Amino acid sequence: MPKSEGDGSRWTVSEDWETQRGIVNDLFAVETNLELAALREHFANKLLFLEVVEAIGNLKTNTSDRDKKRAQHRAEGYHINNGHLWCIQPSKSLASRPRVKCVTQEEAIALAEEEHKTNRHWGRDLVKLKLMDTICSPWLDQSIWQALLKCVQCKNFGSMHLHSLLYLIMW
Ligand SMILES: [Zn+2]
Repeated sequence: MPKSEGDGSRWTVSEDWETQRGIVNDLFAVETNLELAALREHFANKLLFLEVVEAIGNLKTNTSDRDKKRAQHRAEGYHINNGHLWCIQPSKSLASRPRVKCVTQEEAIALAEEEHKTNRHWGRDLVKLKLMDTICSPWLDQSIWQALLKCVQCKNFGSMHLHSLLYLIMW
């Protein structure tokens, strides 16, 4: 491809880097605020995660030391990255991933349904094990129950089958 003016091929570090850095910082702040606003909306009815998002937001603004300390405590174990809220797994946890995505109950139900259907209609315990490796969601057990009860195919097998899916303890 021929190189032309303005396509970035002639781009070099500008001499007025300081000015540019200011713009980059401003853009970063706008991006961060948009990310926070989107997450606030996403978790609007989920008090636990909403509080965490608010706390992380407070840490980025110029609040008082006391408020900052409180926010720090609330946000401990969480961070925001790529538009998602993540829960950092304690190092001694058995989870194989260092962090798991925080999701709403509705999202957890959808994910549980998918796990159940794509994995030969797994029961509660296996779905839970798999989900706990990737997500963090309040009332996860309840969400999995709801997902399993929604499965038409399992329902057709009758109540005995559903019962075994919901109550079977694997260990
Ligand atoms: Zn099923």
